[in-house]
Amino acid sequence: MSAPLLGQMMDVPLTLSSLIAHAARHHGSAQIVSRRIEGDIHRYTYRECEARSKQLAQALIALGVAPGERVGTLAWNGYRHLEAYFGVTGFGAVCHTINPRLFPEQVAWIVNHADDRYVLFDITFAALVDTLAPQCPNVRGWIALCDESHLPAMRTQVLCYETLLAAQDGNYAWPELDERSASNLCYTSGTTGNPKGALYTHRSAVLHAYAGSLPDALGLSARDAILPVVPMFHVNAWGIPHAAPLTGTKLVLPGKDLDGKSLFELMEAEGVTVSAGVPTVWLGLLAYMRGAGVRFSTLDRTVVGGSACPPAMLRTFEDDYGVQVIHAWGMTEMSPLGTLSRLNWEQSKRPREAQQALLEKQGRVIFGVDMKIVGEGGQELPWDGVTFGDLHVRGPWVIDRYFRQESGSPLVEGWFPTGDVATIDPDGFLHITDRSKDVIKSGGEWISSIDLENIAVAHPAIAEAACIACAHPRWTERPLIVAVKKPGAAVTREELLAFFDGKVAKWWLPDDAVFVDDLPHTATGKLQKLKLREQFRSYVLPTALAVEGCPFDSTQDVAKHD
Ligand code: ADP
Repeated sequence: MSAPLLGQMMDVPLTLSSLIAHAARHHGSAQIVSRRIEGDIHRYTYRECEARSKQLAQALIALGVAPGERVGTLAWNGYRHLEAYFGVTGFGAVCHTINPRLFPEQVAWIVNHADDRYVLFDITFAALVDTLAPQCPNVRGWIALCDESHLPAMRTQVLCYETLLAAQDGNYAWPELDERSASNLCYTSGTTGNPKGALYTHRSAVLHAYAGSLPDALGLSARDAILPVVPMFHVNAWGIPHAAPLTGTKLVLPGKDLDGKSLFELMEAEGVTVSAGVPTVWLGLLAYMRGAGVRFSTLDRTVVGGSACPPAMLRTFEDDYGVQVIHAWGMTEMSPLGTLSRLNWEQSKRPREAQQALLEKQGRVIFGVDMKIVGEGGQELPWDGVTFGDLHVRGPWVIDRYFRQESGSPLVEGWFPTGDVATIDPDGFLHITDRSKDVIKSGGEWISSIDLENIAVAHPAIAEAACIACAHPRWTERPLIVAVKKPGAAVTREELLAFFDGKVAKWWLPDDAVFVDDLPHTATGKLQKLKLREQFRSYVLPTALAVEGCPFDSTQDVAKHD
């Protein structure tokens, strides 16, 4: 075979430093606004951000950090964390964002597994660092993200970020790195077993930032102001800190206060047009706005993902506040963006209900990601919107293997099995029905816990709901609703169960509903169904009592699978 004719274009590597260099040079005066841990609002520009990122790179090099080594962060969304995003990666080290909401033992395990050289931390995490330091002997230093006057009293000997930066002149040229070298490290939250590390490359992060900025994704422009509520320690805040400098978008970083009032006030003060976060934070924001009787004056759209966006939330945003909701799906192993719910030209001409039905799903893939659903034998299943299957993905920002688990690829024939169960409809819209471990297996058929949760939270008296599988002698598993009422709201078990009538197939109807004061959440704000299942392990469904041979008596019968 003859050699291919090679093209004659520049071979410029795709690196993260090119993003901040671009923003500093071409959007130099665009703003980065942060609500600081110190309590005030900090305001500077991309130009200043790059300059300080360079000082950080110099400081870390001076401390002996070598390319490829990991530097951890335990920090909220703020400008110093952003400087770590570029200062650490810019000279070839790896920015390892750590979720401080995990248990300290888990954080210590992650720091040790990642083999972090230094850890940068917000002063709110001083006590956590004191707990971690004795358990993490390989960390050479803990760097407090503050100036000398804010250094907290700690047992651990720490370095001061501002002092380290002040010692450097910022006269530094970003080196040209191999675009395939590692840039960022994020661990999955590890609801089962130890967390697993996803090690991104400069190339994957830049391509992901490009794709995430497209009109049918976040649709970012230099006229937008974006406030990522999603933390920078959670899958790189869905890539927003990379996409914003790429597009010259004003960046508004909310710090540690993520309650409805704080978020609303910051959005209004800074003219925020786009936001992004998990459903739980939006619950808080919408509750605040309802109570205070206030409305957004600039917010145009918001990305909701990380767990399913209940249709009721989507409607509140759109109908009551005129804010477009972009429902998105992804995961740590995918950098994280996979699909977003945006209509195409033809779909946007359909009747309103048909449009809404599509927008409630997780949407179609953005270029770069391909997906398929497969059956138990690995055969590809049809895109009919009905058939459930295991969701597999592939693409240049999808994980190939886990960090330091070199043996044993997670891939199946070149595809990454996501652990999610989904349908795909003829429009190519993905609908996540469950995590494979949460799906309710009733009489050999599958019931989507997410669909039932969405119905429960559409009830006006319900604030939050989880649907879990409960053991059943005839059907193996049946759905149980565990719900939290809105403050002051009244609803009975019977009323809530009746609310499902006509909304799902009869055999999907929940067998029981119980009310609790609150539901357990993971460190990333998702329902912790594993814990809930444990809590309700010995719960006996009334329908289970009705089964012949059951030692108890009941008049209720179970819904039939027909
Ligand atoms: P983990 O919770 O494992 O740390 P991620 O934050 O990466 O990890 O979460 C990824 C998972 O979250 C997905 O596999 C999926 O189960 C769930 N998820 C994310 N977005 C959505 C969504 N829009 N609807 C339903 N589930 C979602």
